[in-house]
Amino acid sequence: MYNIAIDGPAGAGKSTIAKLVAKKLGYIYVDTGSMYRTLALACIRAGVSAEEKDKVVDVCNSVQVSLEYVEGNQVVRLNGEDVSGYIRNEEVGNMTSAIAVYEPVREILVKMQQKIATEQNLVMDGRDIGSVVLPNANLKIYLTASVETRAQRRYKELVEKGVDCDINEIEKDIEDRDYRDMHREVSPLTQTEDAILVDSSNMTIDEVVEKIISYV
Ligand code: C5P
Repeated sequence: MYNIAIDGPAGAGKSTIAKLVAKKLGYIYVDTGSMYRTLALACIRAGVSAEEKDKVVDVCNSVQVSLEYVEGNQVVRLNGEDVSGYIRNEEVGNMTSAIAVYEPVREILVKMQQKIATEQNLVMDGRDIGSVVLPNANLKIYLTASVETRAQRRYKELVEKGVDCDINEIEKDIEDRDYRDMHREVSPLTQTEDAILVDSSNMTIDEVVEKIISYV
């Protein structure tokens, strides 16, 4: 199997890029963030707060997350329900990085991710793919961009969806999330030694995709 790992901070463009690279190569795209988001949604629905570790772990162990591919697009299910439409908001995003610090929560998803990688050629994106999930990936990319660029992109995305938002708040959210993701004890976001750094701040989407394909 050929596995490509793409890690990086929130809003660096990982999912957009990973999806396009996967399409070009005929591989599947595994969005691990959406798996963590799905567990966060389950916790929100169960009325559990992120600080209640034992309850969070109980909820995560009691639900089923599954992935499915419809015309090449990943659909994530929570106990069979397609929750793709409920997991991309700031509330779920913040809950996600708060529960992603718990080792037992990560274990559930890492196992699933490793299994998929033995079965399919894929592009997988997240925070710990090159470091923990697929340490032997054929290609590792660390995709980043400046905080300002990332906040601008997220802002544009939300405005296009008709969501009322404030750019300063988004920038603050991104900084907080980066801090939590990079400083947590378990599987923090880091650039591994064998990962290639790609800074997309001044690159178009096509340029980034071409660059990664050239490394393949
Ligand atoms: O990539 P996305 O923004 O959807 O990820 C949401 C959150 O899920 C991240 O901020 C991070 O806390 C967590 N996450 C993680 N490990 C991954 C993917 C996501 O901890 N492999």
